[in-house]
Amino acid sequence: MTLFLGLLTLVLLLIGLALLWLARWGRERAGLPAGRVIYMDMGGRGRQRVALVSRRHGLSGRPDYLVENRNHVVPVEIKTGLAPPQPHEGHILQLAAYCLLAEETYGHRPTHGIVRYADRSFVVDYTPALEARLLKTLELMRTDLLASDVARSHKQPSRCRGCGYRDICDQAL
Ligand code: SF4
Repeated sequence: MTLFLGLLTLVLLLIGLALLWLARWGRERAGLPAGRVIYMDMGGRGRQRVALVSRRHGLSGRPDYLVENRNHVVPVEIKTGLAPPQPHEGHILQLAAYCLLAEETYGHRPTHGIVRYADRSFVVDYTPALEARLLKTLELMRTDLLASDVARSHKQPSRCRGCGYRDICDQAL
């Protein structure tokens, strides 16, 4: 009986270790930093999908992950493509928007966020300069929304090829 209980304990211990290893492996594979996942928006049942909202800035969004570690919240944005030499400006601003939303929602200013591409991650510092760039961009976007005509903001034919407005856009490449 003692031998049986000993074996059972050992098996349970090994299963526990395997589960821990699997959880860590999954976390590293997703590019998540250490800490507790307090928000995720990767689809699936039972997962939190409520948008974070900033009434002050008229902004809302759903980061892929928010990881909390000792009152620090780190937004993590997952991109499926291979990493460019530096994160795209749009991805940096998207991450900055999640930092702003996380600050307003949880009351702590994130020091940084992470953009995770298929093959590598970038840590992006959430500096006052980046926040100012984000707010300026939001202001320009609001101005453009009210304008009757807006100039194309890129030179990438591939973006136009996949654009839903291509048929009615007079600036399509
Ligand atoms: S088709 Fe027009 S709206 Fe669409 S991406 Fe190209 S320029 Fe922009």
